[in-house]
Amino acid sequence: MSTAAMIPAIAWHGPEDLRLIGREERPVASDGLLVEVAAIGICGTDLHQYHGDDGGTDPGTVIGHEFGGVVTAVGRDVAASWDIGEVVAIDPNAGCAACPACIAGAAATCPRRELLGAGRDGGLAARVGIPAHRAVRIAGDPDPRAAALVEPVAVGVHACARAGVRAGERIGIIGGGPIGAACARVVRELGARPVLIEPDASRRARLEAWGAEVTAPTDVAARDWDRAIDTVAHAATTPAALDRLRRGGTLCLVGLAGGTTLSARTSVVREELTVLGSFCYDRSELEASARIVAVHGLDTIPVDCLPGLDAAPGVIAALAAGTLTSGKPLIIP
Ligand SMILES: [Zn+2]
Ligand SMILES: [Zn+2]
Repeated sequence: MSTAAMIPAIAWHGPEDLRLIGREERPVASDGLLVEVAAIGICGTDLHQYHGDDGGTDPGTVIGHEFGGVVTAVGRDVAASWDIGEVVAIDPNAGCAACPACIAGAAATCPRRELLGAGRDGGLAARVGIPAHRAVRIAGDPDPRAAALVEPVAVGVHACARAGVRAGERIGIIGGGPIGAACARVVRELGARPVLIEPDASRRARLEAWGAEVTAPTDVAARDWDRAIDTVAHAATTPAALDRLRRGGTLCLVGLAGGTTLSARTSVVREELTVLGSFCYDRSELEASARIVAVHGLDTIPVDCLPGLDAAPGVIAALAAGTLTSGKPLIIP
């Protein structure tokens, strides 16, 4: 008979079948940390996974790839580098450690990348054990729940780097969801001026209360954007973004909605526009994101805190059915 404590977690057992399970608690690995999970962010990837559309999740896998919390135990081999009580985010990308992308610190683009919460157990749990090299420290005394924002905000850090955002520029951001808000936050950190384009009125109101400049897609003026970041990237948004760019401007595509129609745009030629893509982030960008989250905490982007691991299957089912939250959904175990 086992006397080990059981850790509550949410596991995927098949399409639309999430279950609250108990996982036996293991001692901390010699090169690892135990982390009391403070929050887990839910994004489109989780919702594809919920429906079984990602194809990469084995039944019984604990889901959740945007998470962090407080270190509660430190393995003996890493004891010089980590302290109990530190707030950490987790890099959810496990690479092969040998290819050029992994050696450059960009496991997210490794051809053999596995995502925690898909190929391996993730963070939708009360506590997790992780290899210490996958932890990203958040300095100061942040709200531990904000650790779940480091991963999505790192997507904004990389997008702004790819787009080439510079201080003083006017940056149009298509889509006022969590990635759009993350891009707006990073644009402001870089000293540039973001404007968000968002069709949903409740999201617009929330973003305005958060301090953003935001307009509906119909309220568009002339070509006054130096750069644009399209976090949606479907047939309507990308041409609209191109039409707002100044001559010589850059459009950075981040969304994966598909159906863009670049080939029909002669403006790319006549206005000498640059169009490029941005995917994930590298280790240094996760660390840059952690510095932003250390300053702004839970206000880094608008969030909706949803309490209870036991409530998580119902919350995720509702999100997958199309319930639109105005902020980033964070499950609080
Ligand atoms: Zn995600
Ligand atoms: Zn690799």
